Amino acid sequence: MIFDLIIVGSGPAGLTAAIYAKRANKSVLIIEKEAFGGLITHSPKVENYPGFPSISGLDLANTMVDQAMALNVNFDFDEIIKITKEKEIFTLYGNDNRTFEGLSVILATGSTHRKLNLENEDKLVGKGISYCAVCDGPFYAKQDVAIIGGGNSAMQEAILLASYCKSVTMIQNLPCLTGEKDLEEQIKKTPNIKIIYDSVVTCLNGDTNLRSIEILNTTTNEKQLLEFDGIFVAVGHIANNEAFKEYLDLDEQGFIKTDELCHSKLDGLFVAGDCVSKKIRQIVTATSDGAIASLQAIRYLDNLKIN
Ligand SMILES: Cc1cc2nc3c(=O)[nH]c(=O)nc-3n(C[C@H](O)[C@H](O)[C@H](O)COP(=O)(O)OP(=O)(O)OC[C@H]3O[C@@H](n4cnc5c(N)ncnc54)[C@H](O)[C@@H]3O)c2cc1C
Repeated sequence: MIFDLIIVGSGPAGLTAAIYAKRANKSVLIIEKEAFGGLITHSPKVENYPGFPSISGLDLANTMVDQAMALNVNFDFDEIIKITKEKEIFTLYGNDNRTFEGLSVILATGSTHRKLNLENEDKLVGKGISYCAVCDGPFYAKQDVAIIGGGNSAMQEAILLASYCKSVTMIQNLPCLTGEKDLEEQIKKTPNIKIIYDSVVTCLNGDTNLRSIEILNTTTNEKQLLEFDGIFVAVGHIANNEAFKEYLDLDEQGFIKTDELCHSKLDGLFVAGDCVSKKIRQIVTATSDGAIASLQAIRYLDNLKIN
């Protein structure tokens, strides 16, 4: 069967795109390599998605999956490792030698937060370790927190957290911050932000919740044990776009450059959500992209039928 639309990735962006396309009467297949619902299934609590004052990420994702299923969106498990286009037909190649054919494609492959790769890290996510201050910062109001990192995202997150946390300690592995100068000036003027330079986190302590972290000064070799209520890891995102790069314009970090209507440089291939080159990666921005990409795909499909 040749689907009208194949969506790679079943996070909020992919699911939104599927809902829009099904409601426009298109046949839709979503292909997912890991877990239906995407990255948000890892979040213990979401409190910034309108309509749901407080909900676990898994429940929110399941609600979206249920909505897509009720519209008869087709779901399949596979990892897409290659895409080709011949005449008007896209062929998507799965990891286990299966192929899928579609008239249009939306890539909604998301991104992965770069981790510290330390013992206990996965176990303590949501229990003192977070990768998103916008998402989880308010849970630490009036408490002592640390930001690991010293680039633009880390600085923006530090300024945000300083507005409602008791103290914010930035732990940067270099002798300086590495983002925009005006952000750096703002950081230095904020009395409850402290910066520790030349230091890396070497240990995360805690059984059920994070208790303390150990840091190592890489110039003096001194170790310190520091107690925080929470730490925010802001050392970058990893894009999941390597497999498709021959059809795409990627930025220096590997994220896909699009126009404001989610077009890629290949006709009929659209891009939505966290895999796009952009500054804000949230559920609402992903669902917004999903709607835009889907409406563009619908328009593309309708034009194909006319021509
Ligand atoms: C712990 C945590 C807490 C968060 N909390 C919040 C919050 O409170 N509020 C908020 O707004 N945001 C939050 N976020 C961010 C939010 O999860 C993301 O912005 C959102 O999920 C992005 O949606 P997406 O659809 O673009 O990508 P994703 O949700 O990342 O989905 C992409 C999907 O594509 C699949 N995929 C990738 N490559 C392939 C391939 N080649 N073949 C098949 N499938 C593929 C992946 O397995 C994944 O399921 C949080 C993130 C984390 C990790």
